[in-house]
Amino acid sequence: MSDPVEDVIILGSGPAGLTSSLYTARANLRPLLIEGTEAGGQLVLTTLVENYPGFPDGLLGPDLIRSMRQQTERFGTRFLSGDVTAVDLSRRPFTITVENEARQTNALIIATGASANLIGLESERKLLGHGVSTCATCDGFFFRDQHVAIVGGGDSAVEEAIFLAKFATKVTLIHRRDKLRASKIMQERAFKNPKIEFLWNRTIVEILDVSQGKVTGITTRVDGLTLLETLNCDGVFVAIGHSPNTALFSGQLEMDERGYIVTHHGTMTSIPGVFAAGDVQDHVYKQAITAAGSGCMAALDAERYLENLG
Ligand code: NAP
Repeated sequence: MSDPVEDVIILGSGPAGLTSSLYTARANLRPLLIEGTEAGGQLVLTTLVENYPGFPDGLLGPDLIRSMRQQTERFGTRFLSGDVTAVDLSRRPFTITVENEARQTNALIIATGASANLIGLESERKLLGHGVSTCATCDGFFFRDQHVAIVGGGDSAVEEAIFLAKFATKVTLIHRRDKLRASKIMQERAFKNPKIEFLWNRTIVEILDVSQGKVTGITTRVDGLTLLETLNCDGVFVAIGHSPNTALFSGQLEMDERGYIVTHHGTMTSIPGVFAAGDVQDHVYKQAITAAGSGCMAALDAERYLENLG
């Protein structure tokens, strides 16, 4: 006997995926949620979350994900671990292959998120959440009266430098070239800010100090020189862009020039029955609460779509 066709499969287990599973589960659609190997998404890489409404004392990112997971499980969401290796949206029902096992579904919610680009250092990975952050809005507040470094030269890096300067005593922006990529107006604001200093033509070679389990400084190499310089600081913000996790859908769904899934009328994609929620379709807001909100929207959109299918 062949496997039954699912009503709805959800890809991704961050706030968007978990909220869409909560709503579809409560609508009796028995969602199957496939959590990738980076289960929980970006929130499990953060520490304290203070801007998720309903938690006056804040809570840890991994705890927030755990609670969301328990909540949706209570209403019957089924979880499957493993990475999706292929997706076929050209025929209905849609086919989702999870590590060589094919599953079929009438509706699909894509909530695979985006990943912050990292420099690629071992020390960076080890200190992520312990002084290294990829989100100034989330973690800037913890660096009140401290000295932080920020890496990057685009709008994100400059915007985050200005934001961090509200809390920190000093912000050092480190860029690999001698010119910012950020828009002129943002550059002017940053240049005028007395708390922000710039280090040009530098590559980060090490973030210190893994042995202490916290950030104490950063070692940089000046372009063209072998000389290494160490800068003392209490935190490092990496702002060198994000990449949406959309490689699987390439050529099948409409995407913008940066690879984000294009949605319209709420969470609808270019294929009816396929919905997208959270950071995979949002490079503007990128917050846990907005991801959860769009996960709810995708669930309601999917429910309506399935009702019309009969
Ligand atoms: P971005 O524009 O792609 O800039 C990334 C920056 O990181 C570049 O300066 C790049 O250097 C640097 N970089 C990349 N890889 C690096 C590496 N491995 N090591 C060191 N540096 C590295 O990304 P973004 O700043 O996140 O912005 C993304 C988009 O969102 C842009 O279109 C931006 O305009 C938009 N945005 C707008 C606003 C706003 O309008 N308020 C705010 C944030 C973002 P190079 O310059 O040498 O390439």
